[in-house]
Amino acid sequence: MIRSILLASLALVPFLAAAQDRPIVLKAATVLDGTGKTLRNATIVVNGSKIVSIDGAVPPGAEVYDLGPLTVTPGWIDTHSHVMYHFNNGRLAGRGEPPEQAILYGMENAVMTLNAGFTTIQSPGSPEDKYLRDAIARGILPGPRILTSLQPITDPSLTPERIREIVRERKQQGADFIKVFASKSIREGGAQTLSDAQLEAACGEAKALGLRTIVHAHSAASAKAATLAGCTSIEHGAYVTDDVFDLMVQHGTYYDPNIGLVLQNYLENKEKFLGIGNYNEEGFAFMQKGVQIVLDTFKKALKHPGLKIIYGTDAVAGAHGRNYEEFIVRVRDGGQDPMQALISATSLSAKSLNLGDRIGSLAPGMEADIVAFDGNPLQDVTAARRAVFVMKAGRVVENLAHDAKRGEKK
Ligand SMILES: [Zn+2]
Repeated sequence: MIRSILLASLALVPFLAAAQDRPIVLKAATVLDGTGKTLRNATIVVNGSKIVSIDGAVPPGAEVYDLGPLTVTPGWIDTHSHVMYHFNNGRLAGRGEPPEQAILYGMENAVMTLNAGFTTIQSPGSPEDKYLRDAIARGILPGPRILTSLQPITDPSLTPERIREIVRERKQQGADFIKVFASKSIREGGAQTLSDAQLEAACGEAKALGLRTIVHAHSAASAKAATLAGCTSIEHGAYVTDDVFDLMVQHGTYYDPNIGLVLQNYLENKEKFLGIGNYNEEGFAFMQKGVQIVLDTFKKALKHPGLKIIYGTDAVAGAHGRNYEEFIVRVRDGGQDPMQALISATSLSAKSLNLGDRIGSLAPGMEADIVAFDGNPLQDVTAARRAVFVMKAGRVVENLAHDAKRGEKK
């Protein structure tokens, strides 16, 4: 009998755990390995949490999944997902919500994200992320691997010394990286808010502690300052200019544009945000224009060879489980080469997380984070919406691929 959808079915967990003792073999007509290579009629052998061979012999007693014509890729990575953001009773949930309820909504977002084929996300960030991250890492509840910055650094009145202290506190609290706000929002023009000295304090201290830094920066000046301060990535960057993209290439700074999901999601769900915090009519009018602004900047970025463009969506409430929309917009509207967009969503984003030797590509020794799509996203971008088989760390967490399955039914 084939194992089918096992999501959130606690009763099946002992069965799952037992099944992991057997090697699992995935057969697929097309495998995109995440680094730019395409393999045909490949046999991927998984043992425990890892890939042990590709095109090796099928070990005796292996459980075989014949994925038929599906297209297999590494698990996708979203480098910017606010996994705790959610709606409650048709409105953006906020203060006053019981934390027990908030964490369950966060869990639902995590499940939707994983089902969509995203096996790792980076959340920048909220203190609750830590509980979600650690719960999923315990291996019972399904969800993507989560990295979190915990509470970001936002306050421009902090002294550089205080910023260094906060960075050390975050590390103590268990942050995987540091998130810094260096500019205002796109709605407010994105002007630089932290000084060069403050950015040097944040990114310099983090680096000394072995932590990466991701920086919210919209204006060219703020992106430039973050690049010169040695920060790891520029997030959003709606107004980055050619000279700053050149500087980012020179410094090896990652660029994380979010052009395909976040603004569109706000506009589609306007009534659920309007009137809360700084979500007002003016802001929404601006976001409508912002869709084109960020698309134009993305097209500009593509003209800079060597610029390391990673795959973040800035997913907020309403967007979780649709993280693939970013891929569609980057390729269809932005004109990015689909193979480059896939590399961005897999091996390049893994490298940006300092996890390039564990996830983001399909090769012996890598974690078995493996997704199969109904269709080939390189030929039909909308196939990115159809992840029908998802494995994370060697465990099958979703299998809707029955139609595609032939032969060896066990
Ligand atoms: Zn964000």
